[in-house]
Amino acid sequence: MNLLSSFNRSLLLQNLSSQTFDLLIIGGGITGAGIALDAASRGLKVALVEKQDFAAGTSSRSTKLIHGGLRYLKNFELGLVMEVAQERKIIFRNAPHLVSQEKLLLPLIRNGSFGKFITSIGLTIYDVLACVNSNDWHKILSRKETINEEPLLQNEILIGSGFYSEYRTDDARLTIEVIKTAVKYGANTANYVEAKRFLYSGKKISGAECEDIFSGSKFNINAGNVVNAAGPWVDAIRDKETEDGRQKSGSGTQKPEDKKRLHLTKGVHIVISKEKFPLRHSVYFDVEDGRMIFAIPRGKTTYVGTTDTNYNGNLENPLISKQDVGYLINAANKMFPSIKLSTSDVISSWAGLRPLIHEEGKSPSELSRKDEIFVSASGLISIAGGKLTGYRKMAKKTVDLVCKRLKLHAPCMTRAIIITGGEFEKPSDVKKYIEQLSEIIKEKGVETHIAEYLVRNYGKQSDEILKKWKEFEKDNPGQNSFIQLVKAELWFSVNYESVYKPEDFLLRRTGRILFEPASILESLPFILDELKNYFQWDEARFEKEKNEILKSLRQTVTFE
Ligand code: FAD
Repeated sequence: MNLLSSFNRSLLLQNLSSQTFDLLIIGGGITGAGIALDAASRGLKVALVEKQDFAAGTSSRSTKLIHGGLRYLKNFELGLVMEVAQERKIIFRNAPHLVSQEKLLLPLIRNGSFGKFITSIGLTIYDVLACVNSNDWHKILSRKETINEEPLLQNEILIGSGFYSEYRTDDARLTIEVIKTAVKYGANTANYVEAKRFLYSGKKISGAECEDIFSGSKFNINAGNVVNAAGPWVDAIRDKETEDGRQKSGSGTQKPEDKKRLHLTKGVHIVISKEKFPLRHSVYFDVEDGRMIFAIPRGKTTYVGTTDTNYNGNLENPLISKQDVGYLINAANKMFPSIKLSTSDVISSWAGLRPLIHEEGKSPSELSRKDEIFVSASGLISIAGGKLTGYRKMAKKTVDLVCKRLKLHAPCMTRAIIITGGEFEKPSDVKKYIEQLSEIIKEKGVETHIAEYLVRNYGKQSDEILKKWKEFEKDNPGQNSFIQLVKAELWFSVNYESVYKPEDFLLRRTGRILFEPASILESLPFILDELKNYFQWDEARFEKEKNEILKSLRQTVTFE
């Protein structure tokens, strides 16, 4: 039974409420997803609950890079560079469709962070620590060579550049595919289920009372171990556990025994159309305040980010200020003087919260991105900090701890587990598959870049979508081919990826809100109609969903 089919939700909820699990994970971002996969593949009985959609927290709001960690080199965090670089190789091997290697330009400017000599030494250390293949080692380019590679960098302050290897991904797709892989190993994972209250057996934590967000019904999930992988909500869950524990024991349990707390910082990205900002390569460049930001070409767009500012507001929906946008636009205009961006050029945007560990006296950009585990007196395991790139290692650390408690000798298997859709013999086969699909797509009169989009999103699962696309075309011969494709994707997402709402599909399964906003106007009426039919929405629900998605779309171009 496919437990990620939205049509099997009641069965999934019944499974969650009727069994006792070895491990309950709170949070369906990349951290929780990775833990679910690691634990399920070691043979543990695993439940995971996510109160929003999978990846709706930070894991759909990052810069979408699988970093080798160059910025850590600046802070002399050499161990971290090595660790993330090794992880990046593993992710590339196990999910080659979701991770693509590409060269990144590091412009060297007069009075910038780095000179040519220091950059050459830094990038050499980076290539060695990050185990970069010798044919992909960095190059130092002259001013002229840099401008040849990236004409938009034509700038009087430019003195040359470093040209080095990085990897790109889609954070939300990586999260959903890791969830799907975990489910293949037997995990029970539900989105739109919130952990509300902790359950105890004596003084030890033994599960959580949960709520199905759609129906409001409450049920218990019993589990020998509970992991709090709630990203920016980690402290809220720790506080809730302290409070629940105090009520249970009647004693005055103190605030989290551990003095370490999260320090949330907000990071904003803006998206510009390719016509307005026709960048050829990803560029990692200096900003006047001493920080560095990225400009990254993606499909028909280029995105720029990120800011890094302290944050104390609403966690579900961090808003973007005019100041955030102004900061990014000024920085881009300074480095790429010919583009002359203004706020009206922003076609989409997103803001995410970094769940970092607080360090006294440090500014947002100085805080370490290291992960850390906290264990409460009642046994709640909380994991915070870290990066998308390091998710597998974070999961291993957490599940090692759970296995130790269970007195189970079960080694971690995830180094060699292929993530769903990534069933290619070697990474270079991804390109061949894209070419193969391009031919099919060309025949249908749909833009051929769609082949790359499909393969980068779904990998080998694109075959299933193409099959459905053909079926839809046969059933509705007159309908526009692109709309039929979107319907096939929606069918796939509802049947295999727990999609319930327009935003689940348009933002986190396909990235269309961010990178293809113009195409949504054409397809939205069909998407709403299909979802209405799939889930038998009445008119009131239909209107509610329609208004919500229109509000989300507006929000990506509205700045306070
Ligand atoms: P989240 O993704 O936030 O997941 C936690 C989940 O817990 C949420 O979905 C939330 O809804 C859920 N939850 C909370 N409370 C409950 C409850 N009571 N019941 C059920 N569910 C609950 N890393 C990289 O490697 N590369 C990058 O390029 C990169 N860029 C970044 C740029 C920015 C701007 C930011 C903010 C981060 C970036 N990161 C990057 C870091 C990376 O995105 C995060 O480390 C990672 O996504 C955190 O994932 P998580 O699963 O811990 O948290």
